Amino acid sequence: VVELGMPNRTVLTTCAYCGVGCSFKAEMRGDEVVRMVPYKDGGANEGHSCVKGRFAFGYASHPDRVMKPMIRERITDPWREVSWEEAISYTAQRMRDIQDRHGVGAVGGITSSRCTNEEVYVVQKMVRAAFGNNNVDTCARVCHSPTGYGLKQTYGTSAGTQDFKSVAKADVIVVIGANPTDGHPVFGSRMKRRLREGAKLIVVDPRRIDLVRSPHVEATHHLQLAPGTNVAVVNAMAHVVVTEGLVDRDFVAERCEGFAEWAAFIARPEHSPEAVEQITGVPAAELRAAARLYATAPNAAIYYGLGVTEHSQGSTMVMGMANLAMACGNIGRDGVGVNPLRGQNNVQGSCDMGSFPHELPGYRHVSDDAVRTVFETLWGRTLLAEPGLRIPNMFDAAIEGSFRALFVHGEDIAQSDPNTKHVTAALSAMELVVVQDLFLNETSKFAHVFLPGTSFLEKDGTFTNAERRINRVRPVMAPKTGKHEWQIVCEIAQAMGYPMHYDDSSQIMDEIAITTPTFAGVSFRKLDEVGSIQWPCNDAAPEGTPIMHVDGFVRGKGRFIETTYVPTEERSTRRFPLILTTGRILSQYNVGAQTRRTPNVAWHPEDLLELHPHDAEVRGISDGDLVTLASRVGETSLRARITDRMPVGVVYTTFHHPVTGANVVTTENSDWATNCPEYKVTAVQVGLKQVS
Ligand code: SF4
Repeated sequence: VVELGMPNRTVLTTCAYCGVGCSFKAEMRGDEVVRMVPYKDGGANEGHSCVKGRFAFGYASHPDRVMKPMIRERITDPWREVSWEEAISYTAQRMRDIQDRHGVGAVGGITSSRCTNEEVYVVQKMVRAAFGNNNVDTCARVCHSPTGYGLKQTYGTSAGTQDFKSVAKADVIVVIGANPTDGHPVFGSRMKRRLREGAKLIVVDPRRIDLVRSPHVEATHHLQLAPGTNVAVVNAMAHVVVTEGLVDRDFVAERCEGFAEWAAFIARPEHSPEAVEQITGVPAAELRAAARLYATAPNAAIYYGLGVTEHSQGSTMVMGMANLAMACGNIGRDGVGVNPLRGQNNVQGSCDMGSFPHELPGYRHVSDDAVRTVFETLWGRTLLAEPGLRIPNMFDAAIEGSFRALFVHGEDIAQSDPNTKHVTAALSAMELVVVQDLFLNETSKFAHVFLPGTSFLEKDGTFTNAERRINRVRPVMAPKTGKHEWQIVCEIAQAMGYPMHYDDSSQIMDEIAITTPTFAGVSFRKLDEVGSIQWPCNDAAPEGTPIMHVDGFVRGKGRFIETTYVPTEERSTRRFPLILTTGRILSQYNVGAQTRRTPNVAWHPEDLLELHPHDAEVRGISDGDLVTLASRVGETSLRARITDRMPVGVVYTTFHHPVTGANVVTTENSDWATNCPEYKVTAVQVGLKQVS
């Protein structure tokens, strides 16, 4: 930490890394952060923090940061610094020109889960009201869109059921496709505390994550399944519950619908643990024992991550977990539930704020006349009743020629989205790419306009964490770029002829409260008074809602849905005999734009490829060797780490470094319901890299 002397003021704000949403006191001296002190009364963290929240804020003043807007006619031209007025009028005029020539639907925007609720809200409003279409999507498309779909279908709302605190009452904790100690460290610690007190742990993951075996914590069951077979595993657990008479009959009778049909489906022999063992590689006895442990515990809670959602059956798996929890009555009280661990700070919020092409804020479908009328009356524009394009559809339409311009808000899609070659072909095909971000990145290589963004230290607004907790993000300094991001968006909309103005970001939240019933009771004033609020917060729940579905599900009755296991099309072959799966590590963050630019901690300097000793030996690979990683769509190289964390036949890497560009090899396969990419299953080959 750079020594800057004693702080002379303190600002209470929220970490901008993961979906835990820890509160911090930023201790300031002038315009410099002296230190970030975890806030003891923070609703999500209660005084705890991890290395990123505590130390990784130096990127905000890194010399790489772009401070002036820039434009260029062609992507081969050098950037030219311009005034805000010129950048905004150039963007607006090019957007209008493209729409005149190619139609209203030829342009769109992507919102960011890194940004505040208020910033996201104005971006989707700009697309809907100023662009005049529903071509708005969010980077949550590539992470938790199946959560939104699956939990809405079964429970009626696109969000986790519990508050973090609830884990302290869990007797059994099931972690599926998540690595909380690396990805959500403060919640991971809370979970470990409960495990040390005696709660039992079931881990469902191809990789032996730290939780499986760490000091004072050992999983009772590690179901080390083959990548892509989650649905078969959850169906087998449900099969045991149904066929061994472990169903909570009172809960199901009072609270649910569709049980009889679902029970007949799940009792079929193909869902038995013995049959599923052939598919998943998980011993039938382990599956049976894990199911019994979950079903017979007084309280059992499921926590899951991208290892559930980023599959061709991501949405099916979310519904499968929801079925299992309902069958066992594990919903609606402390210590139970189905809980997504959101990766980025505001994944929940960016989805809540209407970033999907089919949903207005509050997860209401654009075809709902009554809902559209609310927005049309307030916004003074007629809105389209048909859904717009999802991100992958935008890419396909760009290559085909009908989608011509994209506004990318705070996301590096050229590094983070799958099948890099396809993404960059789409970006290259567009006439106009506008990037709003802190740093030039892989996406901005294809951009014509660069609008410098603000770090969390300059933002004024709110983030919503994985437990639906709305936290205030307070600025410790004015925007270094001269404008708030929401102001830039409003000014582009205005320059396109749509009047959009707010005096400050609290007015945006006031509008959200008017248009979005689950936020009806939220305001900056109330947040300042009470600290944080978990939505829904309205007349029915003025103090917010820590636990959902207590007396009834949001949709009325919880709905059992048949979840047929369908193998992914991605199979290992002779040419690509291994399966690659991906994840995060504690000391880096997503594409690394921030953590790679924070010099005060020994950040993990490169992505490594983990592989089993057997797979290494047959390829003549030693620990630390430079290896090639190739799939049917691309090839990259990185260093090998040999470890028995991985089973034979499965390799693993992270995606934090553009030099590696792990997504060069991931494919176009995606979730059937939401198009969330199947990052977690890619057939690959690994070999020693020949260095000439
Ligand atoms: Fe920030 Fe997440 Fe770490 Fe909390 S756990 S300090 S929110 S990165």
